[in-house]
Amino acid sequence: MVNNSIITFTQFKANPHKYIHDKKLFIFDLDNTLAQNGKPISKITKKFLETLIKKPIYLGIISGRQLENILQRIYVQKILDTKNSIFIGTNNGACLYEFKIKNNKLQKYVINQELLTTMDYEKITKVVKQILKDIKLPIPVRGKQIIKTPSSVIATIPGIDTPEHIKNKFDPDKKIRIRIISKIKELLTSYNVNIAGRTSIDITKHKVNKAQAIKLLIKYVNLSKNNAIFIGDEFYQQGNDLIVAQNKISSIFVQNPTQTQKLLSILVNLL
Ligand SMILES: [Mg+2]
Repeated sequence: MVNNSIITFTQFKANPHKYIHDKKLFIFDLDNTLAQNGKPISKITKKFLETLIKKPIYLGIISGRQLENILQRIYVQKILDTKNSIFIGTNNGACLYEFKIKNNKLQKYVINQELLTTMDYEKITKVVKQILKDIKLPIPVRGKQIIKTPSSVIATIPGIDTPEHIKNKFDPDKKIRIRIISKIKELLTSYNVNIAGRTSIDITKHKVNKAQAIKLLIKYVNLSKNNAIFIGDEFYQQGNDLIVAQNKISSIFVQNPTQTQKLLSILVNLL
């Protein structure tokens, strides 16, 4: 690895104490890290998170996905107990929330929201529509391609009604989306454009990324950068985890949720 903030799982496993002895804030990516793409976390991972949250640390999850999707997949209410909280960053860090259980109910506290304005939506939608119209796709478009969320515009390239098995094969090497992104970036210079999930591109406000959200979270819990560690799987160029390591935040590079499970088993024993 070129970037010296990135720790491979093999390096971590050989000497975990070295990498986590000063860590107080653990932040996980969701897709292909805590859970399979688009799927809920496994029973084992859920058990580990339940144990981990009771340790004297802060726990966060940060993903390119929207809040509803993240909440459905990590069973927040079951992981939490009344003494603890969990931090969730959505849309690549555009929004940052803290969740707690109070009076048997899940409560959401807003830490930060980078919302798009009506003008932003108009500008982005116009450009994306034009580019999608001009591009030739290898499969027919099924359903809506542009979805608006409070903090992002999501372009689902083959359309939201594309069946799962076709989505899996649509753009595994990300080449189609890299090409589309470079076209979007030529016309939308003041926004952040990222690959998301298997078929989508996410457009948010310019400064939005996972590193910004993690830095904000570090401040919020009154720690320093050295006390934070991030676990993710997309540290390649265009991957939305790379920016975290580029900001000199220690990052463990896992290959898949099975490796994350092994990492979690080490953490719960060590912390
Ligand atoms: Mg991921």
